[in-house]
Amino acid sequence: MYTIQNYIDGRFQNAINSKSMESLNPATEGAIATLPNSDYRDVQNAVESAEQAFQNWSQTTPSYRSKFLHAIADGIEKKFDAFALAETEDTGKPLWLSKKVDIPRAIANFRFFADHILTIKDFSVQKDEKATSLITRHPVGVAALITPWNLPLYLLTWKIAPALACGNTVVCKPSEVTPVTAFLLSQLMDEIGLPKGVCNMVFGTGQDVGEFLVAHPKVRLVSFTGGTQTGRAIEKAIAGSFKKTSMELGGKNPIVVDQDADIDQTVEWVIKASFMNQGQICLCGERIFVHQKIFEMFLEKFIKETKKLTVGDPMIEQSFMGPLVSKMHFDKVKNSIALRIKEGARLVAGDENIEHEKGYYLRPTILTGLTKDNACHVDEIFGPVVTVEPFETIEEVTRIINESPYGLCAAVFSKDQKRAQEVAKKIQAATVWINCWLVRDLRVPFGGVKNSGLGREGGDYSVDFYTEYQTICTGT
Ligand code: NDP
Repeated sequence: MYTIQNYIDGRFQNAINSKSMESLNPATEGAIATLPNSDYRDVQNAVESAEQAFQNWSQTTPSYRSKFLHAIADGIEKKFDAFALAETEDTGKPLWLSKKVDIPRAIANFRFFADHILTIKDFSVQKDEKATSLITRHPVGVAALITPWNLPLYLLTWKIAPALACGNTVVCKPSEVTPVTAFLLSQLMDEIGLPKGVCNMVFGTGQDVGEFLVAHPKVRLVSFTGGTQTGRAIEKAIAGSFKKTSMELGGKNPIVVDQDADIDQTVEWVIKASFMNQGQICLCGERIFVHQKIFEMFLEKFIKETKKLTVGDPMIEQSFMGPLVSKMHFDKVKNSIALRIKEGARLVAGDENIEHEKGYYLRPTILTGLTKDNACHVDEIFGPVVTVEPFETIEEVTRIINESPYGLCAAVFSKDQKRAQEVAKKIQAATVWINCWLVRDLRVPFGGVKNSGLGREGGDYSVDFYTEYQTICTGT
């Protein structure tokens, strides 16, 4: 059992209102942690501390900050097993997945930006020998970093690392559903001697902590990852404040399986893209479009392989999937399945009872038979549920895909690289994978298309976001 405290101004402390809440392990439904149920007063203290710390931190050199980021990465490496266990107990994802993806990627986030910041150069331009302009980058100020529950450590570190590397100070509001790895991270920052106030962690709800944090006048930059509705609420709350804003929001990601796709390999990829982390990755596919020539063959194989997947105790190596993150989310996903069946979908895999006394387990679910223009195709489910539909032409399928309000990512499967590239170009999505999925390169831009987000992050794009330019023009 973890006793989580806020980390403000380099001190661990309870919420000023003394309120706390519990975080549950979704596999056992037992409490895994108590955490502060903070309010505006804790946020106020955290923002003031971050503002104070900004005075010094913003003046430090990139190499000074780089060393701290590497020290954090070293620390996570040393406590790898503790972070992986916490990630699994908190989210319900299989331990092998925490070890293979979440924790290594969190380490990579710190290492990448620790190195990347050393490559960023100031530059100058000369105008007809009359004047020289020196263009320099500067940190923005106090950043509010708000993250969801699905990849709690990975997404948080993808914000903290570039923000600190660029010289900003931060106040983080992790999801209260999965707070433990953020707490372990703050303990680590304390151990390595990160200057006080540079990174503050305030635990609590979106309503009591998040809303006040993003609207705080001393917060100059807001980086948010979460649902599109919440993103919209935040945009409204800060409208007119001219804060720099990055929004990584929801999706309804399509997967296109063309007529010449290798069925066995494609099914393998589609299973990962549909059900990994119980389908609770913003980049998971939810609508699978299969060329009608291979539709029946693909569906049969997809159902067969999906039914073989083991859903069970996340601590066991054989479990491909663990439980969904919470009872609330489990109910939401079950309702989404019921709604689709009511609207005419045929359930061809999933939704059977799973024999577990406790835990929010759901079998990977495949639905088919909905009409293409069915209204429920618009809503993100964010669980292990996909719909499979046939298509006839590329023009038809790309038109349907582009009718979606979202544009986070897509995947295309075809042996014909050229044709696949052409399909990819027609799809309105920030990232399109061809014959693969979830391959990440930290240098490339991510997000920022349609209702799936605003602003791009990744490599130089993150550096652009977490800094602002100044031009000093000197006459010669
Ligand atoms: P939410 O939008 O519900 O919550 C995200 C975070 O915002 C939580 O910490 C939440 O706190 C907080 N929050 C809620 N309301 C406010 C508010 N008014 N002001 C400030 N903060 C607030 O998302 P979920 O946690 O349910 O995560 C799932 C969603 O995240 C999915 O839609 C998914 O697609 C999206 N996502 C997008 C990614 C991307 O990169 N595009 C990556 C991962 C997820 P609290 O927990 O208390 O509500």
